[in-house]
Amino acid sequence: MPPDGWFRRKSKFAPAPAAQIVAQVPDGVAIKCAQCSEIIFTKDFEKNLKVCPHCGSHHRLTAAERIAYTVDEGSWVELFANLRSVDPLHFKEYDSKLAKSVQVTGLGDGFVVGTAAVSGLPLVLGVSDFRFMGGSMGSVAGEKVARAMEEGIARRLPVVLFTASGGARMQEGLLSLMQMAKTSAAAARLAEAKLPYIVVMTDATMAGVLASYASLGDIHLAEPGALIGFAGARVVAQATVQKPPEDYQTAEWQLGRGQIDSIVPRRDLPQTLATLLSLLTGRASVNTGGLNG
Ligand SMILES: [Zn+2]
Repeated sequence: MPPDGWFRRKSKFAPAPAAQIVAQVPDGVAIKCAQCSEIIFTKDFEKNLKVCPHCGSHHRLTAAERIAYTVDEGSWVELFANLRSVDPLHFKEYDSKLAKSVQVTGLGDGFVVGTAAVSGLPLVLGVSDFRFMGGSMGSVAGEKVARAMEEGIARRLPVVLFTASGGARMQEGLLSLMQMAKTSAAAARLAEAKLPYIVVMTDATMAGVLASYASLGDIHLAEPGALIGFAGARVVAQATVQKPPEDYQTAEWQLGRGQIDSIVPRRDLPQTLATLLSLLTGRASVNTGGLNG
């Protein structure tokens, strides 16, 4: 058993760009952008899809917000919601961390899968929720990603996954690492079935998730400013004894190196997905009004 403290290291993702509630004004009326420190009225922030109107920072979304911002109203049907992680290694504090994440997010795990439509085009959609233990991929998240692909094959539908994860979930040890192989094999089956697979990388898409299903799409999109990488900047700096550039492992940096195909602002994502899905499936999109119109 490792000594106490080994796994207490503060997460490198701790300073999440989640906007903070401003103390001086009544609860929930305004927030402070964690990137530029400007004060934003909550209603303006939400109207702007949680993108800071001052600096353009794309703040993290919950899975429910992402679904609401992306798909046609009333089209979302969740699948496999009953899957729950177990604690196979009896890892210290895993039980309580899981319980807390379930309580905070209202989700069974950090990855949500369902069927939906974007501009009338049907798809299988999967969305990570970073609040659930950093979106880490344990047995349940991996199983849900694999089932999303299998659902796509069974229904002959394209698959779109929004990624946000610190990587594999260490509390499930090798079982988490095995999800890399499982999700990669499922993505290969989807490709063999000649069905489109689109990945939208959001902040942050790292480590075992980037090194498996997040990198295997036919098309890779990313939100502006999203952190995307394998080993984090601090590890790379230690290993190479070099200071990485300022924009290291941002979506923009990755775009310049051909790792992603396009950076798409949040507001444009539904239309971009509709255009891509229409081109890839040969189906015609319809104007559904609102964001997706
Ligand atoms: Zn800002």
